[in-house]
Amino acid sequence: MPEPKTAAPHALLLAGPPGRSQIRFALAAVLFSVATFVIVVPLATLPVARVPAFIPAYESALAICFVITAALLFGQYNFSQRPALLVLASGYLFTACIVVAHILSFPGVFSATGLLGAGPQTSVWLYVFWHGGFPFFVLGYALLDRDASEPGAGSDAASAQPGDNTAGIVLAATIALTGVCGMTLLASAGQALLPTLLLEDHPTPTLAALGYAFWLLSLLALFSLWRRRPRTMLDLWLMVVLCGWLFEVALFVIFNTARFDLGWYASRLYGLLAASSLLIVLLLETATQNARLAQLTHELSEANRALEQLSLHDALTTLPNRRFFDAYLAAQIAIARRHGRALALVMCDVDAFKPYNDDYGHQAGDECLKRIAAALQSCCHRPADMVARYGGEEFALILPETTSADAARIAEEARRAVAELKMLHASVPAAAQISISAGVAVLDGDMSAQQLIRAADRNLFEAKRLGRNRVVS
Ligand code: GH3
Ligand code: MG
Ligand code: MG
Repeated sequence: MPEPKTAAPHALLLAGPPGRSQIRFALAAVLFSVATFVIVVPLATLPVARVPAFIPAYESALAICFVITAALLFGQYNFSQRPALLVLASGYLFTACIVVAHILSFPGVFSATGLLGAGPQTSVWLYVFWHGGFPFFVLGYALLDRDASEPGAGSDAASAQPGDNTAGIVLAATIALTGVCGMTLLASAGQALLPTLLLEDHPTPTLAALGYAFWLLSLLALFSLWRRRPRTMLDLWLMVVLCGWLFEVALFVIFNTARFDLGWYASRLYGLLAASSLLIVLLLETATQNARLAQLTHELSEANRALEQLSLHDALTTLPNRRFFDAYLAAQIAIARRHGRALALVMCDVDAFKPYNDDYGHQAGDECLKRIAAALQSCCHRPADMVARYGGEEFALILPETTSADAARIAEEARRAVAELKMLHASVPAAAQISISAGVAVLDGDMSAQQLIRAADRNLFEAKRLGRNRVVS
């Protein structure tokens, strides 16, 4: 059977080790981020036009990216049951929802002061929860997945089992949503309890301190991902996500940029890199998996066809084998009986084949059988006619819609076709060449397949008794 040409796809997306090109792409994304950062930092506090439409447009894109990534990751968890994936998926869902709360509460977007009972500190506090929350989830993923990252555990196709883990997903999603609701409530109704983070659009030292804290948390998550062995493609792209995250936080909070200056806009672009990079890679991987799956399906059906051919055909002569013969004869008997049509069977046996093997060797015997098979095949004129290797040096012709006289004529044609091969057989005294004997029988009344074969065999035996190289009907 041919070897499959295509490697089996991993059951999980991005579960395999990253290839060279993946690593190069990831490095390019990080280097691009570093280069942009170096250029932007000196100009970070440059004021830029205040575009209030930027926030809803940008954050809608973020929310959609996060929610689609969450759906893909929940799907991966449902398949693999790896808790680490559930945590990561929840992180993406949490972020998608808190981004929505952030858009709604941002001053000047849906109302002058922001929706959800927002005060001046609400949206910035939601920004803090958003940027502090996500690295926590990634850290959870990196630490929880330690066992699964051991060779052979969880990451290969064989160990992943599809299952229904809806309850786990619903619970995790509920916890994430409850967290977002609680944080939104705290940032709006409870903002009096929280310290001030923005003064006239500029970060206060408290925001800077919080920024440092979750910058370090992101760094810790990045380090945990870096240490994982073997490192998967998912780990690699999560590292790219966290790099974008670090640059975003660094620009906005640590470099003390204000809303709507260059650093603030640039930090948003890093946010977009962080939100979209994993999603893009997941979608590309899905497309690659689908292509590989289609190729494998094609190869599998080809292999099945080859297997079926092997199971129904004789390896030496390539003629239909005994199994195929039995099934075909039974089917043709049923058809003949239903439509009241004739059906003939011709059993053929090579004469004195044992001495042929003895004189010329088994390989010559095999060659002889192949040539006889081809000669018999040439006597099957209609599409429904079949010649099969019945066993050893015996062949059978099934001739649907053929009367006894016509079958005898075809059997004689077959005998002559073999004789015309003029294969030397010195031990046969009369002709000194290979010949066959044939017995013909036709379906009669309620005859079973066995009875029809026995009738043809009786005539074949008679042909042998009468001196071989002849047809008896
Ligand atoms: P008869 O005229 O009565 O049919 O004599 P025979 O020698 O043909 O009959 P017998 O049944 O004694 O011998 C059949 C021989 O066919 C014996 C067996 O080794 C040979 N044979 C069966 N299958 C194959 C095969 O696949 N290749 C070869 N080379 N020989 C085979
Ligand atoms: Mg025989
Ligand atoms: Mg024989």
